[in-house]
Formats: sequence, structure tokens, C-alpha cells
Amino acid sequence: MFCPCSTAYDGAPPNSHVCPVCLGLPGSLPVINKRAVEHVLMTGLAIGASIPAATRWDRKNYFYPDLPKGYQISQYDLPLASLGSLTFGTSEGPFTVRITRAHLEEDTAKLVHATGPDGAKVSLVDFNRSGAPLMEIVTEPDVRTGEQARRYAEDLQLLLRSIGASDADMERGQMRVEANISLRPRGSEPFGTRVEIKNMNSFRSVERAIAHEIERQAAVLDEGEVLAQETRGWHEDRGETYRMRVKETSDDYRYFPEPDLPPLHLDPAWLDELRAGLPELPAARRERYQAVLGLSAYDAAVLVADPDAVRLFEATLAADGRLDPKQAANWVTGDYLRLRNQATGPIDVDPGELAALIRLVGDGSISRANAREVLELHIASGDSMHAIVDARGFQQISDSASLGATVDEVLAANPAAVADYRAGKVEVVGFLVGQVMKATRGQANAALAQAAVRDRLAASERE
Ligand SMILES: [Zn+2]
Repeated sequence: MFCPCSTAYDGAPPNSHVCPVCLGLPGSLPVINKRAVEHVLMTGLAIGASIPAATRWDRKNYFYPDLPKGYQISQYDLPLASLGSLTFGTSEGPFTVRITRAHLEEDTAKLVHATGPDGAKVSLVDFNRSGAPLMEIVTEPDVRTGEQARRYAEDLQLLLRSIGASDADMERGQMRVEANISLRPRGSEPFGTRVEIKNMNSFRSVERAIAHEIERQAAVLDEGEVLAQETRGWHEDRGETYRMRVKETSDDYRYFPEPDLPPLHLDPAWLDELRAGLPELPAARRERYQAVLGLSAYDAAVLVADPDAVRLFEATLAADGRLDPKQAANWVTGDYLRLRNQATGPIDVDPGELAALIRLVGDGSISRANAREVLELHIASGDSMHAIVDARGFQQISDSASLGATVDEVLAANPAAVADYRAGKVEVVGFLVGQVMKATRGQANAALAQAAVRDRLAASERE
């Protein structure tokens, strides 16, 4: 945040991404990272927050071994962004969370508790993370359920990724969620005793930890007991929260303006430039996919949640203006995402080729089942869809004469099914069509095959 050390320290040896500034050595002076400020400003603009004309940095003073200077440079009463909101879908419909503020500060170092070679317990400090830019986003107390909290965190991650502010990978500690939970009697205004939960390192644990904590607090209150204001951790395997520390006094951080940094004036022209550089935001994209392209809310949500899927979908539509967006969405959210998720590495689908494949299915040249295989072969080889269809002989059999001959063979080979049909078991039609598809290696036009099977069965009944 205030030095030139790289943030690409994931997996790097401890204390290899450090300099006098982030080690807090005496005499070193901080310099503001402009790009980090821009990322927070863009986040603020994306959540509809207001940006002050000027802001400043404040020192938050406290002692802990992960904080070499004895203070953290943060923002106290003049955050870079305030009063925004985020709206997202939940199982009970759209939900809006008001966002109080987003401010910028420097991250702390990381303590590693280990056992030394002599068996003694040691605490080590890795300063790689020390001084990394850290944006803290605080919401109003609007969230009522674990699901709302999880969906908020997921949508915030999507937003941060879409504007390039952060990879926001929870597993890598690039995004951390802390939840404050309190209960109150229905209808009463003041919030009850607040408990903070830390250590939730996946969206799933955010939802589970909050649900568990609501139950735990309710049980304590139902017994007529009093809750302690405390910080609790989340134990993923046990599915429980546990006490980390009890807050006996409110913290006094003795905030005061950082004397080593100038106040920051936020030029309106700079903000306009950042606003103009914002991409289409996830909520607007979901809305457009439904309203303009006619996609279902579900398909729009699945597509927008995945940047690779969005890129392929947009490029496929761009490659063929006459393509039905719903067909393209089906291929991308279905087969493409399934194959991408199964693959061990990145997979490559040429958008123009995917458009060609969708057309081949649409005009009846190949069956849907074979098209799926063609896509897999395209991903494996990079060959064009037409070349694969020709090489594999996947052209669909849509000519009734040759299909009729196959149907006759199938009926002759399955006398029991034919007898069942005559006895009134019409569902054997599905089985017989399946046999026709098998006999033609999936090349039969499914609708024609079904019609042919019904025709032949009806004719055999008259005989
Ligand atoms: Zn540094």
C-alpha cells in the first residue's frame, strides 16, 4: 500500500517480499499506491457510493507482533467511499444490503505458530503480507440469514473480480469475511449483544457459521442467560463456533492523522475517468441477459457468475448474429462449464466453431447427442466442427427410407417389446427409439426415429 513490494507472495519463501517501509524500520517513509486507491474508488462507484472531495490517512495505534510499526495506516472518519449498496438474488427473491463504507488500509504480517527442532513451541512472523493494500467494506446491519450473508459475499466477490479490483480468492486469504451477529426480541429496536465470528474461509462456512451462531445465541437467551460480547472462531469440521477472546473494554486505538502522508484530494475529472472505465457490472449484465436476450433468471445468473462463461457466450453471439441466445446459453452453461470443470487445465473453445456447432444441431445436420461428442473432440484437437462431423460420419440420418429399414430391424430383434406394446404398454416406444439411436450410433434424427417407430408399430398392429 505504501511501498513497492509485490503482492505476488503466495507460495513465496517467508520474508522474501519485504523492504524497510513494510518492515516498519525507523526513518522509512510511506508513499501512497495510486492504483490501490483507484481500485477502491472504482469499487465505490460500482456500489453507488459517494466519494468525498478529499480524504486523509489515520494512524490506528495498537501493539501486536504482526504490526512492526506499532500502528496501522488506515482511514478513520473519511473513508474513500461511503453509503453504497449491493442488490443480489436469494432463494426468497432480490435482496439489497446497504454498504456503510469502504476504506483502504495496509495489511498486517502473518504469525505462524509452529514447533521448533527442539520440540519447543515457537511463533514466527512472515512479513510478506505486511503492507499489502487491504480494502475493508462494512455493511449496515441489514442481513438476517446465513444465506443472505453468503449471497452478499459471493456477489461482492463477483463485483470485485469483474472490475479487476481483486481476485478475491477466499482460499488464498485474498478475501476475508467477518460477521457480527446479534439477536433481539421480535419487534424491538435495539440490537442485542454482538458476537463477531472470524476464520470463515469459504462461502459455505460463512452460511453455516452464521446459522450455527443464531441457534447458539437463541439457546442461551431462551435459558434466560446473558451473552458475552466476544470474538468467536469457526471450526469447520465440528460445525461449531468457539470462543477466541472476550471483549472486556472497548478498544482505544488513539486514531490521529498520519503525519507522514498528505491529505488526498480526489479530482472530479479523475473520478469521471474511472467511472468511464468501469465494465458492465454483474447486476446490469444479468438484467440485460434477461430483458434483451430473453434468458431465464437462472441461466443469466449462472453465466454472469463465471467470467470464462461470459466471454465465450458473448463471443459466440458475436460470431453469428442470427444465433438464438438461449441455445448459446444452454451450450455454455451446460456442456462447456461441465467440460471446463472436469478438465485439469484450461480448455479452449473457439466461439466461431461453437456457433457453427449450434447451427449444425439447429438445422438437423447432427443430433444433440453427437454434437456433445463433437464439442469434446474440438476441445481435445482444436479441429473445426465441420471437419470432425465429416471425419466421424456424424451426419444425422434424416431420410425416412434408411431410417425405416433400421426401425424394421430393431422391431424384428425385439419381439418381446413389440408384444408389450400390443398389450398396451406404450412406454416401450422410448426403449425402441433408444435401440434405433444405438443402432445408428446416435445419428438418427430423434424426432423422425420416434415417428417411424410409432408408424411401424401401428402398422404391425393392423396386420
Ligand atoms: Zn515493502
